[in-house]
Amino acid sequence: MLLRHTPKEINPRKALTINPAKTCQPIGAIYASLGIHKCLPHSHGAQGCCAYHRSTLTRHYKEPIMAATSSFTEGASVFGGQANLLQALDNIFTIYNPDIVAIHTTCLSETIGDDVPQIISKAHEDGKIPEGKVVISASTPSYVGSHITGFSNMVKSMALQLSGGEGRKNDQINIIPGWVEPADMRELKRLCQEMGLNTIMFPDTSGVVDSPQTGKFQMYPQGGVGLHEMRRIGDSEATIALGKFTSQAAAEALDAKYKVPCQILDLPIGLKATDRFINALRPYSRLKVPESINYERGRLVDMITDMQQYLAGKRVALFGDPDQLISLSEFLVDLDMRPVYVLTGTRGKKFLRRMQEILGQAVPEAKVQHAGDIFLLHQWIKNEPVDLLLGNSYGKYIARDEDIPFVRYGFPITDRVGHTYFPSVGYQGGMQLLERILGVLLDRKDRDTPEESFELVM
Ligand code: SF4
Repeated sequence: MLLRHTPKEINPRKALTINPAKTCQPIGAIYASLGIHKCLPHSHGAQGCCAYHRSTLTRHYKEPIMAATSSFTEGASVFGGQANLLQALDNIFTIYNPDIVAIHTTCLSETIGDDVPQIISKAHEDGKIPEGKVVISASTPSYVGSHITGFSNMVKSMALQLSGGEGRKNDQINIIPGWVEPADMRELKRLCQEMGLNTIMFPDTSGVVDSPQTGKFQMYPQGGVGLHEMRRIGDSEATIALGKFTSQAAAEALDAKYKVPCQILDLPIGLKATDRFINALRPYSRLKVPESINYERGRLVDMITDMQQYLAGKRVALFGDPDQLISLSEFLVDLDMRPVYVLTGTRGKKFLRRMQEILGQAVPEAKVQHAGDIFLLHQWIKNEPVDLLLGNSYGKYIARDEDIPFVRYGFPITDRVGHTYFPSVGYQGGMQLLERILGVLLDRKDRDTPEESFELVM
């Protein structure tokens, strides 16, 4: 038992987190920055922070994650990091030649109080930013929020600092995909294309953190939204933002700056959320919903119908990021499953409100927690077990100790592959997700069934 010290008895804790269900803001900021073509994320802080952020992202994406750092030492910690950042920008443009540098802060530079926009202005004045190159920044203090907050802050900075427009609406729409995998971003673009839409997606990490092996190292892979595209997002007809926690701030900022009306939707994971996404695209599409999309939907419905008997009534515990948990819970309810424990490490009352809408009637016994930790989730499970656990790789300890079928979902996944290559959004993504859930449940059934009722066909 790896977690043998987790007691069943739950005592109130206010100032202690054990096994957090989140990580720190800059990790989200780096992931968002990688979704811009030829962007080098830059960590304004100490080397240790940047090393941790890069290694966490590298372990999840199985790709070398590039980021630079201001490399604070004792001097910068006392006197501020301006000199370090100016030197860093000079080095970065001279040696690595990105089109854009996206700076995020760390706990240390935030505590010192470094004014990063002012330092960027000074870098311009000192001629350290070459003609045509761009530097943006986001404030990402990690003692508040989580990697989700950092992602949201950087996407908002992209929307405000990279956007442009000529004041003439064109026939494109902006898609802000939220924190999803590169395969999901690719799938969202495909669905928009099938609907006949011109879209600009930002950020877009497809082709960046899942780039092919070519035998040649590419500092800046082919993917990512281009700066020239970002310059046009102010002229878009509308913005569709997926995920309140990750995309709402950017969509509203763009609306306020350029009057681009926005719709905030749940991540299109599962049947209903994908239906809402497709419906939201319809007014901007020159086509009716094409038969190909109806067909995909029908196949997901068919799969659910065929397999419902193995899913109905199963108790599920899930943890991870709020936007994903919201849509996953709704999907599980549609599958007739019972998401009885839902826990995120990210803080936000709007998570509780949305979960109440989804689970209030369907699963009234459900326990939902924001700003929670994996230790608490384990205690809940110890008190009343579940049939399935869904969450990132840190859930494997609970799954092993309590002998629960486990589906890896979310961030980080450090001990499996596939999460970056196969989508879970859209109808096809729903099928992949359902297949994975069914797989572990049927494996368990096979394992536990006595010999006399062991079935070849299920
Ligand atoms: S929590 Fe703060 S100090 Fe720790 S790695 Fe993240 S940014 Fe650095």
